[in-house]
Amino acid sequence: MAQRIRVTELGQERQCTKCGDYWPDDAEFYYRKNGRSAQPCKACYAQLPSRKARKAGATA
Ligand SMILES: [Zn+2]
Repeated sequence: MAQRIRVTELGQERQCTKCGDYWPDDAEFYYRKNGRSAQPCKACYAQLPSRKARKAGATA
């Protein structure tokens, strides 16, 4: 699975595999795993079905 990286004048950005958006490749937008950015981005991670279900409780 190829990671999509692009370099802007602000620095390196990484494409989220889930939402397809580019975000700065740092700890503010991606969780770090073994020193590398983990997919998906934090915004998508918060919306993962398992997480959503946990937050919403039993109601679908
Ligand atoms: Zn994303």
